[in-house]
Amino acid sequence: MSNGVKKLIIANWKMNPETLIKAKRLFNAVKKTKAIICPPFPYLSVFKYNFLCAQDCHWEESGAFTGEVSPKRLKNLGVKYVIIGHSERRALGETEEIIEKKLKAALKAGLIPILCVGEKKGENAKKVINKQLKKNLKGVIIAYEPVWAIGTGNFCSANKANKVREFIKEKLDNKILYGGSVNSKIAKDYLKIGFDGLLVGGASLDAEEFRKIAKNA
Ligand code: PEP
Repeated sequence: MSNGVKKLIIANWKMNPETLIKAKRLFNAVKKTKAIICPPFPYLSVFKYNFLCAQDCHWEESGAFTGEVSPKRLKNLGVKYVIIGHSERRALGETEEIIEKKLKAALKAGLIPILCVGEKKGENAKKVINKQLKKNLKGVIIAYEPVWAIGTGNFCSANKANKVREFIKEKLDNKILYGGSVNSKIAKDYLKIGFDGLLVGGASLDAEEFRKIAKNA
């Protein structure tokens, strides 16, 4: 981009692709972009890559927590980043208290957390985000993801999203990303207006489309 600072482009694959063969194909098609890639847990150990991201982690280093993954284990695998507080996790019951514990644990393990914040349809963005940011966020990347824009095709315009970015910027000097139905036609609008990067879900599963988005970095 024009100011010469590299933007962070993140591919959140969620539970996809459905087979390891397809995951390897997608990975090979997009790895040259050097984007941050978040595969599902089972594929994390397969890829040798400097920009791997987990989609979640537990807050304990070890112990009897069946089904959970410790941030330390992720770090040992070579994972660099972890998404925390994605709206799809919050919808499963993740509270602010849990999110705070996960952030602390991730930082302690040497991972860089990407904290997702954002309002649901009809909620006041600033009010919601104010509560979500009441934590020690040193070293944390913030992703503004209006919940109503995720996976709906109904993206938040760059101008509207920028008002929220400015609101967050008044409080924190952290990097701020936008996420919510980003595609290759609109990606650059967010980066031009001041976002430090993009969190991309659906469009990250199409190698060609994702490469076009990542070109803007
Ligand atoms: C996401 O998974 O965080 C996301 C923003 O998804 P999508 O790009 O599909 O809206």
